[in-house]
Amino acid sequence: MEELYKTLLKENAALKRLNKELSEQLFKEDFTHYPWMGNLGHWYWDYPENQVTFNPLKAEAIGYKNEDLPEDVGFEFFTQKIHPEDYEHVMEQMRAHLQGETPVWEVKYRILAKDGSWKVFYDRGKITQRDANQKPLFLSGIVFDVTESECSLQEEIQKARYWQNQAQYDHLTQLYSRYELERQLNLLDQKTRQTKGSYTLIIIDIDCFKNINDTHGHLMGDYAISQMGAAIANACRYSDITGRYGGDEFLIALPDTSKEQALNIASRIQSEFVNKPFLSGLNPSISGGVATSSEATDIRKMIALADERLYLAKKNGRSQIVIAS
Ligand code: GH3
Ligand code: MG
Repeated sequence: MEELYKTLLKENAALKRLNKELSEQLFKEDFTHYPWMGNLGHWYWDYPENQVTFNPLKAEAIGYKNEDLPEDVGFEFFTQKIHPEDYEHVMEQMRAHLQGETPVWEVKYRILAKDGSWKVFYDRGKITQRDANQKPLFLSGIVFDVTESECSLQEEIQKARYWQNQAQYDHLTQLYSRYELERQLNLLDQKTRQTKGSYTLIIIDIDCFKNINDTHGHLMGDYAISQMGAAIANACRYSDITGRYGGDEFLIALPDTSKEQALNIASRIQSEFVNKPFLSGLNPSISGGVATSSEATDIRKMIALADERLYLAKKNGRSQIVIAS
């Protein structure tokens, strides 16, 4: 019996040495096989013993040196440091894999470093050995520290959102920019024609706007444009498309609205705009042209028709909305 015990101890020591040797070799291999950014190497998880063997870089990345680690590191050494908001998701992914619902376990999570900062790890692994009853015996995987690329990705996303917003909205009025307006109008036109619906388009232009600029300065001109945007936003519904087409010219698309209803909306915009207190004394007015989808075969032709009617309104003395040629 004592002989057997000694043999077992020897075998155990030999296995530990072999394990150490293999881990060290794999540590080097990780970098020849996976030289890309953030690679922290492989990990191995003996499931019945709950013993994790891993490349020391995995612990070093969160500030733990080899000598800081307990001799036997269990699964909890890392999982206890997972961000509370990510923990359930990580466990859910792990459970799903252990129960055979997913072919690999793949998850990204924040993990607490020794200095209190958060790192982002990307972990990927799978069951590599099972017992006769298909219960997991061994899992192996690879982990990456993706903190830097995650942070720069978030920055890039924020920047992209900012520039997307800048391109979509006009800074003076907060209505759609010309670029986004044209995109939205194309979509509405296509959808309306497919569903055999209808919509009406209004072009509105401030009369003698140049005078406001010339008499009261460009800043006052800007303010008038922003107030025109507010008057349009107030008069329109959420489903209407409103945008600044350029300079002092605005486009409004009104789904399921007749020309006569559009005329009412244009009058509301007019009265709201001209009654702005800061404009009193300037006697501002607006002109407009209206076209409806049944009068033209596409959005380009509709804009041209509404513009033609705006021109008529200007020619006939301004301060009016023209709905027919
Ligand atoms: P009309 O009654 O025929 O429309 O005459 P108008 O003076 O309104 O039109 P015109 O097209 O001659 O002048 C528009 C002016 O709007 C010219 C341009 O300098 C000015 N403008 C264009 N964009 C802006 C802007 O963003 N801010 C200000 N303040 N002025 C602008
Ligand atoms: Mg004008």
